[in-house]
Parts: sequence; structure tokens; C-alpha cells
Amino acid sequence: MASSGNSPPRLPPPSPNQVYVKMAALNGGFITLPERNFVTNADPKWATTTPSMCFLIEHPTGSGKPDRIVFDLGIKRDLTKYLPATRKHITERQPVYSTPDARASLLAGGFDPAKDIDYVCLSHVHWDHVGEPLDYPNSKFIVGSGTLYILENGAPNYPPERIIEEGVLPPDRTVELPPTPGSERKHFAHSGKSNHQWQSLSTLPNVVDYFGDGSVYVVDAPGHIHGHVNALLRVGPEKWVYLGGDCCHDRRIMTGERGIAEYDDGHGKLKSVHAELPIARNTIQNIQKLIEVNGDTVEWVIAHDTKWACENQARFLPGWMY
Ligand SMILES: [Zn+2]
Repeated sequence: MASSGNSPPRLPPPSPNQVYVKMAALNGGFITLPERNFVTNADPKWATTTPSMCFLIEHPTGSGKPDRIVFDLGIKRDLTKYLPATRKHITERQPVYSTPDARASLLAGGFDPAKDIDYVCLSHVHWDHVGEPLDYPNSKFIVGSGTLYILENGAPNYPPERIIEEGVLPPDRTVELPPTPGSERKHFAHSGKSNHQWQSLSTLPNVVDYFGDGSVYVVDAPGHIHGHVNALLRVGPEKWVYLGGDCCHDRRIMTGERGIAEYDDGHGKLKSVHAELPIARNTIQNIQKLIEVNGDTVEWVIAHDTKWACENQARFLPGWMY
């Protein structure tokens, strides 16, 4: 990017007593994505079996015991627990492997999902990310604005019968982030349980500094489905990890080698895997600029990044990324 006075600021330097998080990747099962539905210039016959990755984040506290956050829960280990419409959709994503799931991955690292996880942050409520919330009976669930609305009312491309699960989120333990400033979506009833404020950070228009110490940011990442959020973690001096969820499903979209596929919806119109394609494109551009402006200080990972998973097996629990 040209160094003009209009360049977005870099990510902020560490504060004097800066808190850094530890993190590890978790297996959350595997699904198979036909290339033609995801990237431009696709091989019409090609499909890739990709991970549905989740992440464990440890946020130090003064008390000695860190806050533990799981970002995304992957695929349910028992596929029969999905609703019929979702099970039908899953037939188009075969092969699907549901083990090891996020719970088994945590247990393998010595963590009990029922006791040791303080927060579960869901990037969004698609079937391959919601996993099995019942495994986390003591965790607080964090979701993006509009998530509770679409669980009741459905969303573009996703009729209610496709995604609503009875009790997918525990009402008394779910915190929905507030609508972003200027959002026209006033109809997204806000749970009122979150006092967080959106702010801009480097190239990202809307982030929430979740613990207020500049180490864990939840990032508004609209376009894929209402409520889609990402996370930006400060893992060391001048070192960050950006978790991109489903902002795109193929790393070649982030690198600019491919575009987002549009394909026939069966009714003579084009659709994509994103509910709001122009907004999804804008979200990807913001992340691309973040990487451009901040260079090697930002490592990025999307949920279905096969290449990253293959090259970073040692960074899955019981190993650590940072
Ligand atoms: Zn998704």
C-alpha cells in the first residue's frame, strides 16, 4: 500500500504491562467442499476434504487461572443429532468425519469441556461450527449481533428449518454483542447482556476489546451469515493471530488468487455461500488490508484451511501455536 497520509494505522504496539494469550488449534471434524461452489475458475469435479477447525485460547488473569475460550465447536460427533434439513445438506458434503471433535481434542490436551472452558465464541451458527454446545454446561457463549434473530427467523439462503436447533444456545449463558454503529438492523433484538463497545482497529471498522486489555478482539465480519464474527489475538510482542472463520472457505481467496464462486441456485439466479456477497467481499478486503498494513506480524487462519492444518499439525493440542 502506498504510504500516504490516508494509510490505515498499524495494529497498536504493546502497552507496558501487556497481556498476551496462548493458543492452540483443535480438530473439529472434517467436511468435503466441492470447489465449484466456493472459488472461481473451479475444476467442476474437484472437491477437497477440509478440517472444520476450532481453537483454544488462554487469556491470563491476575488470579493464576487463565480464562479459557474455545473459538468455534466444529461438527457434532453424532451426525444424527442434526435436524432433517441439515442432514440432507450434509449428504452434499460427503465424506464428513466427525471425530475427533472439539471435545475429544480438548480432552486429549487435558482440558475438560464441562469444567475448564469459561467462554465459547461461535464465529457463526452454521452446522459445521456449532458443534455440541451441551458439552459446555458451564461456559458463557459469545455470538455476533443478529445471531439470536436468525436462530428464530432464518436468514437469506438459510431458512429456519435448516439451522434452528432446539436449545442450540443456552439463553441464560449467551451474550450477543450489540449491533455495530450505524447498523440499519435495528430489528436485531439485542440481548442487552453485553456492555461492549465497537471501535475501529487498524483496517478493521468494528472490533470489541473483549477483556479490555488489548489481547482478545472479537471482530465484526459481516456478509457470510448474520452475526458472523472473527477474532484477533495478541500472542506476543508484534505478533497476532487472525481467526477468519468462514470469511472465505479457500485460502486462495484471501491471497487474491481466486474469487468467490457464484453458481446457479436452481431457480435461474446466482447464489454464493455468502448470504450477502458484496458485504462478504468487503469483509475480505478489510482482512487483506490488515495483512498488507501489518505484514508478517499477523498470522491468519480460516476455519477450513486445509493447507494450514496440514502444515501445522504440531500446533494442534496437546501442542500449542503460541
Ligand atoms: Zn459457514
